[in-house]
Order: sequence, then C-alpha cells, then structure tokens
Amino acid sequence: MSNPSPQTPNQGPSTPAAARVAAPAAPKAPGKPKVVVKEDAMWLQKEMINRNYHELATAHDVGRKISATFVPGNLNELLMCFDFARSLPETNALQNGMRKKSGKFIMDAERDGHSEDVCTYVKSDLGMMLNGNIGPTGEPLPKPDVLLLSYTGCFTFMKWFELVRQKYGCETTMLHVPYQGDGKINKNMRDYVLKQLKENVIPTLERVSGIKFDIDRLRQYMRESEKAEADLVSVLQSAKNRPSPIDGYFGAVYYIGPIFTAFRGTPEATQFYDVLRREIDQRVREGKGPITPDGELTEEKYRLVVEGPPNWTSFRDFWKMFSDEGAVVVASTYAKVGGVYDFGFRHDADRPLESLAEYCLGCYTNLNFPQRIDMICRYIEEYQADGLLINSIKSCNSFSAGQLLILREVEKRTGKPAAFIESDLVDPRYFSAANIKNRLESYFQMVNQKRSREIAH
Ligand code: SF4
Repeated sequence: MSNPSPQTPNQGPSTPAAARVAAPAAPKAPGKPKVVVKEDAMWLQKEMINRNYHELATAHDVGRKISATFVPGNLNELLMCFDFARSLPETNALQNGMRKKSGKFIMDAERDGHSEDVCTYVKSDLGMMLNGNIGPTGEPLPKPDVLLLSYTGCFTFMKWFELVRQKYGCETTMLHVPYQGDGKINKNMRDYVLKQLKENVIPTLERVSGIKFDIDRLRQYMRESEKAEADLVSVLQSAKNRPSPIDGYFGAVYYIGPIFTAFRGTPEATQFYDVLRREIDQRVREGKGPITPDGELTEEKYRLVVEGPPNWTSFRDFWKMFSDEGAVVVASTYAKVGGVYDFGFRHDADRPLESLAEYCLGCYTNLNFPQRIDMICRYIEEYQADGLLINSIKSCNSFSAGQLLILREVEKRTGKPAAFIESDLVDPRYFSAANIKNRLESYFQMVNQKRSREIAH
C-alpha cells in the first residue's frame, strides 16, 4: 500500500463519504503509476499516526518521558495521566513492514543471533534498533523511559521486552493478566490485576514521570474512550448490511488504528470515530460497498470471516486478491486484538481502574480456544458469512497454535467451508502471492459448490 506523502492535501474530515484519490505514487518500473483510493477517515488516521511518531521523536526535547507498551492490553488512558509520549512496538514493526523496511531489519536481527522462528515483529523491532532506531516515518525513535509490559496471553511479549530492557536498561513494570483458561473472568482475577495496578504499575509510572496520579484525569479520558468505542462498534457492525459498506479486515486496519494505539481516550480519537461513523452510515444509506485501494467494490460475491493478522509487506496486493474476486471480509478477529468491544465491553469512567483490569482480561489474545471458536461461529451467523478463512502466520505462535482445531470446529458447527492460507506479518520472504492466490481460488470454488448444493436441496 502506498503511503500519502506528508504534503498530500487533506480536505479534512468534513467531506462525508468522499473517497479521495491520492497523487499517483512514483512508479517503480516503467508503466502506469498506481493510484490509491482511500476514505477520508483513512487519510485522517494516517496523519494521526504520523503525528504520534513526530511526538515521539521530539518528546525528550520538550521534557516529555516516553513509554513503550503492547497493543493488546494497552493502558493508554493511564499512560496519558502521566504525560507519556506513547510508542507501540508492534505498530512500529507493521508500519515498517508496510513501508518495505522490515525485510532488512529481520535479516540483521537474524545475523545478530535471533532464530528464524522468532516472531518477526520482534526481529523487525530489534533490527530497527541495530540500524539506529529510525522510526517508520524517518524520524528517530528515542529510547523509552519505561516499558509497560501488560501481559495478555502472548509469551513473546515477555521475551521481547526482556531483550529491549537489556539493550536500553530502562525501567520496566509488568502487569500480569491471568489467562481466561475457564472462559470467564472471576472476581479473584479482576482483584489480582487491580492490586498490581494500584501497588506496582501506578507507583512506577508516578516515579518515572514525576507526575502524581489523578483518578479524575483518568475518568475524563475514559469518557472519551467510551464514545469512540461505541462508534467503532457501529462501524464494524455495519458489515452486517448487504452489501457491506466496509471491509472488516483490510479496511478495518485503518479503522482500528487510532483506538488500538496511542489515541484511545483522546478527544481526537472521539472526533475520528464520529467522522468515520458518519461516513460509513452514509455508505449504508447509499447501498455502497467498501472502498478498496482500487476503488469502490461494486459487486459483493463472497462474505468472509477471517482469523489471524494480515500480511503487511504485501498488504495492498493481498487485499487486491480478495477484492478482485468480489470477496469482502465482514468480520475478523484481528480487528479485535486491541480490544473486544462488540460484545458490550466499554471502558467505564465510574469504575476506571476496574474497567482497565477487565479490558486487559478480555483481550482476544487472552481468550481460550472455545471462546475464540464461539466468537468466530457467532460472526459467521450474525454477519451471514459464506465461511472462514484463516491466515496462519508463520512466526506468530500465539495466533497460529490451535488454528487447525478452530478450523475443524467452526466447520463442524456452522457447516460452512473453512480454509487456510499462510503468510507472515512483516517478513517478505514468507509471502508467496502465487500460492495464496491458488488457495483463495480453490476456496472460492468450495464456497460456490456449497452454494450450489444448498440451492439443489
Ligand atoms: S501475538 Fe503473535 S505477532 Fe503479537 S507478539 Fe505475540 S507472537 Fe508476535
């Protein structure tokens, strides 16, 4: 996917439902330059994320401290109470992947001793450090002052920050979030997380930042989060319409960007989701399909549910393989990794710390397999999907382990066809366009056969 240049004219968020066309990207080879189409909200989120990189680059110059924390279980509102500039390592890796920078970083990390099997987000991050820690937008990413390790189900998080801590020697605070082994959150689990927040995380953040914790400030941010979360849910659930006005996987990447990163709890995010919701409501009223990088999808042939993160190094080509076939992803588990809001959870200003604990406990990465299977089956039914597609990520053990079980169980329970494709997050060596295209074509044939059999009965 091409990125807008910083000079790309932005008409602001007030032009509803207008898909704008970027200036043609510089062609890599002779031939026609590619033209990328995006919704207004897509441009806006890009600007917000770029601005966050600038804030990180200049934070120490203006006396601000920097935190680093992972997307699932991020405590963004809490970090804002201490004025931290906020860095999210997975976002840095995926942004580097989209900008085709991650391949070299990964190879440099492997040369530095990290095995091929290690999560490529980690190797991209470590490789970026080996190359001077210049962030995806070309500005430096200074050393964080604190690592907030909110542990929500992925063991790699722990190893990742152990390595980063060794390199930077910076302060680290850990929030241990118990796994939902029994498929529910009980009082003991909530109290355990709460106790750590009060006795460990908040005192550390106070000490590092030099700012006293103010719970009313946290409440204020949470009021903003709640509004943005309601609008995000409305946008994601708009995919229940036929045709779906959004793509709930590729398009959703732009929709979840602000709320899953440094913006949840900010008035900017509230405004972004308000604009986005209006854009999407308008598309529903007009009976329009989603905007894809090649323009509006005018014929919805397949409705899919997808499990697993996308590939970032060939994101646009990957999306095109779906849109060329008229396939729209109506729901994805990936659009829930930074918060599962569509089953009712909201950050709650009246119970700020308790709801932060519940947010972490309810993260998708912290759900057990029966819960993940239930979620996917529910999506297939509620979004009237034709089936499930799993993008199995070579180096992401957290997501990939158990996906075969998920596939078999979902097929059994829904009677809908399910299939695997395989790629990687940010390692370009593991994106084979021809293989994925073949698998997708076979899958769409399966869906067509299933439909023919249903009609015959
Ligand atoms: S969830 Fe997957 S991609 Fe994310 S850190 Fe863990 S292993 Fe890496």
